Amino acid sequence: MGSVIDFEALGRLIEIPEAARRLLSGPEKEIHFALSLKTGERGLIVCDCYVVYHCTARGPAKGGVRMSAGATLDETRRLAELMSLKTALAGLPFGGGKSCLSIDPSRLTRFEKTAVIKEYVHILRLELEHGNYVPAPDLGTGPTDMAVIFGETHIPESVTAKPPRVGGLPGRLEATGRSVSKAALLALDRLLGKPVAGARAAVQGYGNVGSHTAMFMSEAGAKVVAASDLTGGIHNPRGLDVRALADHVRRKGTVSTFPGGEQIGNDELLALDVDVLLPCAREDVLTGQNARDVRAALVVEGANGPTTPEAEAILSDKGVPVVPDILANAGGVIASYVEWRNAKSGALTTKEETFELVDERIGKAFDEMLRTSGDKGCSLRMASFAIAVEELVQSMRDREWI
Ligand code: NAD
Repeated sequence: MGSVIDFEALGRLIEIPEAARRLLSGPEKEIHFALSLKTGERGLIVCDCYVVYHCTARGPAKGGVRMSAGATLDETRRLAELMSLKTALAGLPFGGGKSCLSIDPSRLTRFEKTAVIKEYVHILRLELEHGNYVPAPDLGTGPTDMAVIFGETHIPESVTAKPPRVGGLPGRLEATGRSVSKAALLALDRLLGKPVAGARAAVQGYGNVGSHTAMFMSEAGAKVVAASDLTGGIHNPRGLDVRALADHVRRKGTVSTFPGGEQIGNDELLALDVDVLLPCAREDVLTGQNARDVRAALVVEGANGPTTPEAEAILSDKGVPVVPDILANAGGVIASYVEWRNAKSGALTTKEETFELVDERIGKAFDEMLRTSGDKGCSLRMASFAIAVEELVQSMRDREWI
């Protein structure tokens, strides 16, 4: 699997110096280790861990820790690259990084998961204590895991998205969903000219990103008509009670058993006739095989990399705009920046201030993306890549790297 950036296509839109192209076309640093942990007389946990810094021209490598069975080095590289683009697009002083632990967290007890994370910190201690890499949650990890990392480093700014009582930021938990919904609301208005009130939305994935996106969409007046998770989904054309659904998922663990609608599969959800489709689960869910079935007027990417290039080409032919991940889900890293800054300065921020900052940054990036897309006659994704890469190139120049 190659780079996320198509340098040939991007090179037709902006000037990319050869040295910058070389630096951006592969990771700056990679660490691969086998984590092994004895858990008792017979118990043994072994998993591959990958840590990738894609580009640190703008600052420390920032990016989540993913725990997922079968996670690979290629996946980690791709996610780290997206983080370099995302932080540059949002104008943050961070670079792009990512960690993936190839293990299924649902098969670990809380005690075992804590032990795995402590061992991960033990191996990466120098990187974390020197602030070279600043983790946050991703698939399979959450605030408690970040608190465990903090408990090992004792450095508040070494990790973000900690629980608010442990140096975390009020609103960080909801911040990614906040930005996805902000991007969706802007896109409904500016791209479709559609009022938010009554706009129909379908949300794939009901974890951190999906459930908060659904809540903010619903608060803004949109009708969330469908939601799903790994086990399947639920559809109600009159709109789902998204808070009750989140509560149900917390208690029962699945979306599809929620009594407020008809059960549907994930493929059906992706093909629903809605105004906005919000893939908030994981990468590569909209593919060359199913993109033709999409009937949504708009796609807003809550997950990282949910649309394959083949799917994007099909959606573009159908006239369906795709608001890219590096813009739509940047709220998490924007809030993480505030948490990191507060940890260094001692400042405190309220939940409302966090949301205001996310809204403001996403609004500004959305305007810039739209303007660039119009000026250059390119897709929203290419426009956001163009802005981000120009920022990265300039940062490299500022540091005398190129
Ligand atoms: P999570 O683990 O909290 O939730 C993931 C949800 O997706 C769960 O409901 C799960 O059942 C569902 N899911 C997984 N595979 C699925 C599939 N094949 N089909 C349908 N549903 C599926 O994870 P999260 O933190 O919400 O992250 C979701 C996505 O958003 C990931 O791509 C992640 O990289 C990205 N992201 C997360 C954050 C963040 O702050 N958490 C920030 C930016 C991007």
